[in-house]
Amino acid sequence: MSSHPLTGKAPPDFAAHVPSAQKPLIPKKHAITGDYTILTRSLGVGVNGKVLECIHKATGERRALKILRENPKSRRELDLHWRSCSHENIVNICDVYENVFMGHRSLLVVMECMEGGELFDRIQDKGHFTEREAAEVVRCISLAVAHLHHMDIAHRDLKPENLLYSDKTPSAKLKLTDFGFAKENHGSKALTTPCYTPYYVAPEVLGPEKYDTSCDMWSIGVITYILLCGFPPFYSYGGAPISPGMKKRIRQGQYGFPDPEWTNVSSQAKDLIKGLLKTNPADRFTIDDVLRHRWIAGYQEVPQTPLACIQVLQDDKELWPDIQDEMSHALATMRVADEPSKIKKVADANNPILARRAKKNSGK
Ligand code: ADP
Repeated sequence: MSSHPLTGKAPPDFAAHVPSAQKPLIPKKHAITGDYTILTRSLGVGVNGKVLECIHKATGERRALKILRENPKSRRELDLHWRSCSHENIVNICDVYENVFMGHRSLLVVMECMEGGELFDRIQDKGHFTEREAAEVVRCISLAVAHLHHMDIAHRDLKPENLLYSDKTPSAKLKLTDFGFAKENHGSKALTTPCYTPYYVAPEVLGPEKYDTSCDMWSIGVITYILLCGFPPFYSYGGAPISPGMKKRIRQGQYGFPDPEWTNVSSQAKDLIKGLLKTNPADRFTIDDVLRHRWIAGYQEVPQTPLACIQVLQDDKELWPDIQDEMSHALATMRVADEPSKIKKVADANNPILARRAKKNSGK
């Protein structure tokens, strides 16, 4: 087994992350109300409607109910989530019902209830946040993504709203959810297994599938960047979601590590981000590169430098819905992109949040 150029360590034992085969999904046909009391309180709202709270009658446990209209897209979402949910960093599915709900054939997906809320809400509520804690968070997200990518599944909607904490305790687990855009790449493994490694084939020839997983890598890069400084690497002008200017900046990789927020952040953290935000998807780190990277593999030795993240998130609270919208739109653009973008990196960043912060920090 060869050692990794960045860590000098042998690759981790990925077999440890591969779960035992999930049992086949057979939705229950009897009425969900026989087993659950459905409450009117919603736990969150997504594109598919509300996620409701429900109580499992037999155990009294609180759970979350997502209602999907029965159609091929919902079936795919459910199938991919079901097959991957045995991992400790992916929200678990407890039960599935096929019922007529409000007059529509529906799939009722009962999940464990993630009482700890969304990733950045929890970080904002903390008194302090260090670079080592950020590395731990990125490691958890990466373990979930590795589990999917090793099954040839790309999530393609990896954003802060889909990362939830199991409870409010300090030992809560961070888990990935919402497989609404997940996609399985049937057969791509056949071309990349050691017995058939086509070194001579250009990445494009392997087909666009290769780029589905690179979209998750871009997301990990953006989330890591925000965790470390509190603002996103790319931002549009005038609040217009994913403006042409922002699209261009993403394609050109125009972002920076400005002072003072980045002054004390380690060069290893920046190295990881650079590998993840590469403009050409074929050059971007894969999930195995991330798990082997020193900042992730050696997360327990990452410096405990306090980060500006919480303060910046609090200062810019009113911008958070825009930031979320922009990330969603950028991901939507990547999902439909026929071709990987290959424009050269430009050094200077034109980021109005940065400009505002720089002005504030210079006391003007
Ligand atoms: P959609 O596919 O409609 O966007 P999501 O699966 O993203 O729906 O869920 C929407 C919101 O509901 C999430 O952002 C989250 O706040 C909340 N939510 C989803 N699943 C759970 C869960 N298992 N426990 C608690 N809240 C959840």
